Amino acid sequence: MPSGVLEVLEPATEAVLQEIPRADAADVDRAVARAIAAFPGWRAVTPSDRAAHLRALSEVVRDHQEELAQLEARNAGKAIGDARGEMGMVSQVFGYYAGSPERLTGDTIPVAGGQAWTVREPLGVVGLIVPWNFPLTIASWKMGPALAAGNTIVLKPAELTPLTALRFAELALEAGLPDGVLNVVVGPGSVCGARLVEHPGVAKVAFTGSTEVGRSIAAGAAQTIKRVTLELGGKSPNIVFADADLAAAAAAAPGAVFGNAGQDCCARSRILVQREAMDEFMAGLERAVTSIRVGDPLSEETEMGPLISAGQREHVRSFVDEGAPVAFRGSAPDGPGFWFAPTVLCPVDTGARAAREEIFGPVAVVIPFDTEEEAIRLGNDTIYGLSGSIWSGDGARALRVARALDVGVLSINSNTSVRVSTPFGGFKQSGYGRELGPHALDAYTEVKSIFYATDAAG
Ligand code: NAD
Repeated sequence: MPSGVLEVLEPATEAVLQEIPRADAADVDRAVARAIAAFPGWRAVTPSDRAAHLRALSEVVRDHQEELAQLEARNAGKAIGDARGEMGMVSQVFGYYAGSPERLTGDTIPVAGGQAWTVREPLGVVGLIVPWNFPLTIASWKMGPALAAGNTIVLKPAELTPLTALRFAELALEAGLPDGVLNVVVGPGSVCGARLVEHPGVAKVAFTGSTEVGRSIAAGAAQTIKRVTLELGGKSPNIVFADADLAAAAAAAPGAVFGNAGQDCCARSRILVQREAMDEFMAGLERAVTSIRVGDPLSEETEMGPLISAGQREHVRSFVDEGAPVAFRGSAPDGPGFWFAPTVLCPVDTGARAAREEIFGPVAVVIPFDTEEEAIRLGNDTIYGLSGSIWSGDGARALRVARALDVGVLSINSNTSVRVSTPFGGFKQSGYGRELGPHALDAYTEVKSIFYATDAAG
């Protein structure tokens, strides 16, 4: 295979799904030049017309929802039902941010000698670097507010999963987005991602991926004082108190960690259970885990597909090696495909690798605790701070624990924490900045303060 060709695989079969050109640093430079050229025209589009463009993007995704879902399911190996839900969210994201161009208001501030007010300006060209686990969804979280605020874009999808981003770029042009406003480059992170980070013409990099790469991006961006937002890894707790609805908590727990085959930055992969509830909870959890339907992503019955790659399977397997305390496992197909059965480890020492590192696969650890204080201490005992859940029948306790956990996105008696209209992002080494909701616009605008003298002495 020539080095300029990228083979995109289908994780459920290991077969080549498509061959596409592999971009290099010169391609990134050309994409940035196109985005720079398109910026003055795009920022000058009136707010109502920019809103109309975003509505058109929402509609074109909705009209192609099944096509995009099939492509994402095949390329990322995710269950088709999940892929349809994700494409529905992509459409909603553009619909939500269609409301923004006409609402990017500023402040008037009382000062002596004249009038002072603020406006929010677009940044210019923004570089968006996204991972392979929710390819088009995470790209849309960045594209929606970036476009709404008047920026132009160079998007770098993960090499493993570029297909929906490429198809979306075609659809966006068909939907009337001006040429050059959205540019997609597909190539290695160490070449194309790194070039976006160092390029002096790129005003900001919005990155979602591993904490390790995020660290290098923050360091690289410092050279040009580039704006950066980082959505990084997690090791999130799912805290179950004995006074909770244990049947509901146990039934919901697998979805919170084995969804997307565990390749979810929000995966609640540390299940902390109050000791007196352990037996009842574990019995319910075993029933739920062993009934997960793992198989062909395109089958309507499937709840969990394969892992993304052979390398990812090796990484996940390293946590379930000889002697690992496997409490129980679900099933997975044999044969081609990067399959891995959902696995629960217990008892696990809190210092063990499986309890501390992000596994990013269908492996959960269960750890008992005795008191509310211990639950909080264990919940916070990680370098990460992305998400988490609290299950309790005592509302006041749930709120106390929610305030005490150092995480960005929490749910009580539920494991859902990602919504189009609410902010999403991490504390600690899970990153900085917020996506989604009204807060995302802050990350794609600069505040400008203007003073107009009305008095002679002003
Ligand atoms: P990764 O960090 O390896 O890659 C992410 C992206 O960065 C890819 O597009 C990759 O090509 C690019 N990249 C790699 N090296 C680069 C470099 N030196 N400079 C610039 N770009 C570079 O992550 P991954 O394996 O694709 O995704 C898994 C990770 O993403 C997990 O750690 C997961 O927790 C995290 N994640 C976080 C969130 C969140 O919102 N917090 C969401 C999804 C995934």
